[in-house]
Amino acid sequence: MNNQDTKKNKKDWDIICSRCARCCYEKIDLEGEIYYTDIPCEFLDLETNLCRVYAERDSKRPGCVHLSRENIKKGFLPADCPYVADIEGYPAPRMEDESDTDDL
Ligand code: SF4
Repeated sequence: MNNQDTKKNKKDWDIICSRCARCCYEKIDLEGEIYYTDIPCEFLDLETNLCRVYAERDSKRPGCVHLSRENIKKGFLPADCPYVADIEGYPAPRMEDESDTDDL
């Protein structure tokens, strides 16, 4: 694959994102279950829903996860994210206001 193809593939991959920014909110892991909080990443621009430091996010925000075909299956993207729409049995995180009492 040449450099041109790599750039095209990256563009095709990036364009899947609908820019909802939901994945840019803090998540917590409670006994193996991931919950979204309502706390945005400090670098998320709440007006545009875009990262303010996208090009240098690795240094500004160590731990920021780059989406890949493999790691999107781990269950940190919301159920309505287009990247996971076709993954059967996708283990979507829960929203902060969801609790087990919802099932009662
Ligand atoms: S949750 Fe999915 S669609 Fe929303 S910003 Fe993240 S990657 Fe994009």
